[in-house]
Amino acid sequence: MGSNVAVLSCYEYDKDNIKATIKEGFSHIGIPDIRNKSILIKPNLLMPAEPHYGVTTHPVMIEAVGELLLEFGAREILVGDSPGNALSNIENLYKRTGISSLENKEGFRLVNFSREGIIDVDNPGGMVPVFPLTKIIKEVDYIVNMPKLKTHNFTLVTCAIKNMFGSIPGFNKSKMHAVAPSPEGFSRLLVEIFRSVGPDLNIVDAIEGMEGDGPSGGTPRRFGRILMGYDPVAIDAVGGWMLGYNPKDIYTTRIAGEMGLGENSLENIEIFGAKLEDLFGHDVKKVNTVYNVTNKLSSPIFSFLSKRLVKFIKIYPEIDDDKCVRCEACLRSCPQKAIDKFDGRMKINYKKCISCYCCHELCPQKAVMIKKNRLADILWLARD
Ligand code: SF4
Ligand code: SF4
Repeated sequence: MGSNVAVLSCYEYDKDNIKATIKEGFSHIGIPDIRNKSILIKPNLLMPAEPHYGVTTHPVMIEAVGELLLEFGAREILVGDSPGNALSNIENLYKRTGISSLENKEGFRLVNFSREGIIDVDNPGGMVPVFPLTKIIKEVDYIVNMPKLKTHNFTLVTCAIKNMFGSIPGFNKSKMHAVAPSPEGFSRLLVEIFRSVGPDLNIVDAIEGMEGDGPSGGTPRRFGRILMGYDPVAIDAVGGWMLGYNPKDIYTTRIAGEMGLGENSLENIEIFGAKLEDLFGHDVKKVNTVYNVTNKLSSPIFSFLSKRLVKFIKIYPEIDDDKCVRCEACLRSCPQKAIDKFDGRMKINYKKCISCYCCHELCPQKAVMIKKNRLADILWLARD
C-alpha cells in the first residue's frame, strides 16, 4: 500500500481519543481488508514493567487498536510476545505490563509464544538457514506490529523492524546474539527476522517512548505521537528521525532499504499529519554506543583519530552491587555466558563479553551501567 506514514498527535493514553486518532490515520493510509480474519497484535513487551516506565507498548493502545479492528470485521484478536529474558513468567509479564486486562475481553485472546509451539522458517541466503519462530505467526491471517519508539543501546533505535525479534520465543533469542555479535551483523539478522515474519500493518506507540540508555534503562519521553503505515522501513525511517538520527545511520533501516524491503529515504516518504522538519529529535538524548562516539564527531581531527583507534574505544556493562538484588536475570540472558555469581555477587567476565548489552536491557533494577573508557569519554565530549 505504499510508503505513506501517518504521524498523528495524541498526548494521553485515553482509549476513545486513541481510537479516533487511529481512525484518522486509516483515512490517510487506507483501511485494510481484514473481514473475518484472525489477527495477531505483536506489541513490544520487553520485560515485566508497568506502563509508566515507558518500556512496553501501552495496554490502552493495544485495546484501542484491537477494538477498532473488530469493528472493521476482524474475527478475533490475538495478543502476544516473547520477552527478552527467556525465563520470564508470561503471566507476570502480562500482569505487570497491563496486558492481562484484555484477557477476558470479548474478541481478544492472549497467547504465549513459547507454549504455542515453534516452526522453523527458511531464511534463504541469510545469516542462518532457518529461524525458529512462534507458530502463531503462520496460523493467523494478518499481523499488526505495535512497537514502542525507543532509543536502543545496541541498535540505536528500536521500532518496527526490531520489534519482530520477539517472534523468536525464549532462549533462541540469546543464540541470535551469539551468531551475530556486532551491531551491524545483529541488525542484519534483525532485518532477516522481520522479513521472515512480514508484518502487514504497523502502529507505533510514540505517545510516550524512551530516550537515553534505552530500551529499558533510559528515560521515558513524551513524544505525543502515533505513527501508522504499511511500510515498516518507512515507519522506522520516520521514527529514527524523531529520535534524532538520519535513517541511513541506523543499521536496520539502512539494510532493510538496501534489501528492497521498504523505503528508507525520507524524501520518498509521504508523511501525513506533520512536517518532516518539525519532527527531527534534535534534543533527544542519545544512547552510549561506540557507533555514537565515532560517527557523530564534528571535528575532522577527532573523526580521523577515532577511525584508527576504534578498537581501543571501550563501552562496556558494569554491575552496580548496591542496586543488584541477585535475581540472576542477566546471568540467564547473557548469550556468551559471561556472567557468573561469585561469593553472592554477580561478576562479568570481560574476556567473553561481546557488549551486546542484553544484561543492561533486561535488568529489572537498572543495576547494569554502561561505562566508557577514557578514550571513549574524550571522543564522546568531542561529538556535535
Ligand atoms: S545485575 Fe540486575 S539482572 Fe543481574 S542479578 Fe543484579 S539485579 Fe538481577
Ligand atoms: S555480559 Fe552483558 S553485554 Fe556482555 S555479553 Fe553478556 S549480556 Fe552481553
